[in-house]
Amino acid sequence: MRDNPAVFREEVAERARRCCEYCQIPEDAAFAPHHLDHIVARKHGGKTSLDNLAYSCSLCNRRKSSDLSSVDPSTGQIALLFNPRRDLWQEHFELRGGEIAGLTSSGRATVNLLRLNHPHRVQERRIRLGWVWTRES
Ligand SMILES: [Zn+2]
Repeated sequence: MRDNPAVFREEVAERARRCCEYCQIPEDAAFAPHHLDHIVARKHGGKTSLDNLAYSCSLCNRRKSSDLSSVDPSTGQIALLFNPRRDLWQEHFELRGGEIAGLTSSGRATVNLLRLNHPHRVQERRIRLGWVWTRES
């Protein structure tokens, strides 16, 4: 029963404030419900447990798949992907306009693999951010 990720859904969603832990899109702004991502995929021995689950939008989840690493496009070196349970988002990424800049090898590899700056996603983020800024100012 505890191997069923659905058991953890509410806890994982609440912890992530219902935003994707990779691209930060809130679930209510996404076109489909967010998924529970196994950070270390089950095929690599990852457990279905709170410390191995992340809240992920369907786009990030599909792009990440079971990968653990990718290539940092600026160095050509293999880098571990961003791990929301181990890493702080602000240390690896920075929001610049609607784009997400990778600040570290891990950040850049993750931006690239998950296509966080696909034009549609950037546009969606800009619209969303504009709305937040307007609302908070
Ligand atoms: Zn996402």
